[in-house]
Amino acid sequence: MTKRAAFAQLSSCWGCDQSLVDLHLKLLDVLPELEIVYWPAVVDYKLKDLENLPDRSIHFGFVEGSCRTREDEHLLRTMRAKSKVLVAWGSCSCYGGVQGLANQWTLKELLERKFLKAETITDGRIPDENVPGFKEDIRPNPDVVPFDVLLPGCPPTSDNTAEALSALLAGQPFDLPEKTVCDQCPKVREEKHIKVVHRTHEGKVDPERCLLDQGYLCLGFATIGMCGAQCPSVNTPCKGCFGPPPGIKDHGAKIISALGAIAEMSPEELKEAFPDPLGSFYFTDYAASYLSRLVGHTKEEEQ
Ligand code: SF4
Ligand code: SF4
Ligand code: SF4
Repeated sequence: MTKRAAFAQLSSCWGCDQSLVDLHLKLLDVLPELEIVYWPAVVDYKLKDLENLPDRSIHFGFVEGSCRTREDEHLLRTMRAKSKVLVAWGSCSCYGGVQGLANQWTLKELLERKFLKAETITDGRIPDENVPGFKEDIRPNPDVVPFDVLLPGCPPTSDNTAEALSALLAGQPFDLPEKTVCDQCPKVREEKHIKVVHRTHEGKVDPERCLLDQGYLCLGFATIGMCGAQCPSVNTPCKGCFGPPPGIKDHGAKIISALGAIAEMSPEELKEAFPDPLGSFYFTDYAASYLSRLVGHTKEEEQ
């Protein structure tokens, strides 16, 4: 018997969908077992098609993106109501994503910057007609509705999504691994102290040695190992896009704590090395951080 599946997009780049499509012929392993009932990225479904389905009639609902608009939140709640198993698909969905970094500013500041003050604006106006209405800040989707499965990654690899789908089809759990990107990385790590932090394009990388030991901010030590260490394997530092392994409550706090133990640098040198500390330490999961939650609550109290 086929299982009904839906793939919904909230505010996002649609890269998670692209990653699924990138499975190419491997999609044929799972597609015959699925009846797709909603997937607007690929087929011209409308929201009403989803709303008209009976509650809990979708076996597996995959939600990509996060709630920037009220329409996003309506779609998320509809997916929850219609799905037996709801999957937070990608780091936007699990943690808020890159767009969660916008939580550093109020909605008013963001709208003014985007529509009135950006250097490319000539005749600015904040749109207020035929737009879905913005939410004040971005929360991880699991703070909005309960999820059954978390599948992080920006995007999850095609194989990650195929493994999750296969497990769900087989009625098996899909648990996140405890290992980190360092556990999957072929480079030799000596856990040296660092006295300087290089930008990715600076210097000459020794391809055999750990990038962090060489002074590149590689976050593999604090990032869940699901991607096969694909960035450090090609001498590019891990930016932590999959978020932390289970058990680490705050990804950036863990990174800062670990760097505190190995960086022999003055506060001035650290400030110069990290001009965008939140972007560096919380690439996809600032909205899930303690800091964002604290600031967000303060904003709500001020209103
Ligand atoms: S998790 Fe990454 S790839 Fe997926 S929608 Fe969000 S930004 Fe795009
Ligand atoms: S290069 Fe990065 S992922 Fe590899 S061992 Fe070093 S810190 Fe870990
Ligand atoms: S190595 Fe790091 S940044 Fe690259 S895909 Fe894996 S988790 Fe993301």
